[in-house]
Amino acid sequence: MKNWDTLEADLDLILDRHFTGGRNGCKIDKVILHHNGGNLSGEGCYQVWQTREASAHYQVDANGGVTQLVWDSDTAWHAGNYQANCTSIGIEHADISTNPWQIGDATLDNGAHLTAAVCKFYGLGRPQYGKNVFFHKDFSPTECPASIAGSQRDAYMRRAQEWYDKMTGNKPAAPAKPAAKPSTPAKKSTETVAREVIAGQWGNGDDRMNRLRKAGYDAAAVQNRVNALLGASTPSPNVDLNALADAVIRGDYGNGAERQRRLGSNYAAVQAIVNRRMGW
Ligand SMILES: [Zn+2]
Repeated sequence: MKNWDTLEADLDLILDRHFTGGRNGCKIDKVILHHNGGNLSGEGCYQVWQTREASAHYQVDANGGVTQLVWDSDTAWHAGNYQANCTSIGIEHADISTNPWQIGDATLDNGAHLTAAVCKFYGLGRPQYGKNVFFHKDFSPTECPASIAGSQRDAYMRRAQEWYDKMTGNKPAAPAKPAAKPSTPAKKSTETVAREVIAGQWGNGDDRMNRLRKAGYDAAAVQNRVNALLGASTPSPNVDLNALADAVIRGDYGNGAERQRRLGSNYAAVQAIVNRRMGW
């Protein structure tokens, strides 16, 4: 991973088919684990899912490399169950042995690390099977994820918990007192904040923009990144963004969610101009 804290994969190979855009209003509350039933690279998964009507958010290859194939904000087709797909992040793992099924050490270590990172990022708590981590076979008649649900299950879950504790500073035996609040909170990257926005942590509309600004972030830049992550179309070049910004400042487009809805794909670009003119 390029960044475990912000869930930036080593490689993004985003599919243009075989997933559902958005989350249908569902909240991410679990990780669902899979095995490839073979030894695939991220590129290999991408090729297979060109024709097979399936997908997952992440693939962990035999070297531990992580590829993102469906953005977290979209619904991947991996659990054979729509409700489970809507509410989960699907992680695939390459097998290094087929008889018996087995994943390699690097795959186990980085897969468990990714599971922990997803649990941390979406506020799901310490990874625990049956609570926030599940297997494909819990939702469909399949043996998937093979060894991850069998001979390697305990090792995988133990490692995921170790990574989670390391990432959060959690002391499972004797919980540490919450650290004193630093006087100047550390600033997060635009990418991190954009993903928090998508996870619903910053509210909507004007409220979101105000909160971002108060926290010292470039609200327009964050919103632009959110739009990019959500696959929002780029503004049409035929639209006069400056004229739209004038109309917004005149009040023709209302405020908050209404303004966002009426400006559609031009919202971020127009709002950025408005912000600049208003000196925000
Ligand atoms: Zn599976």
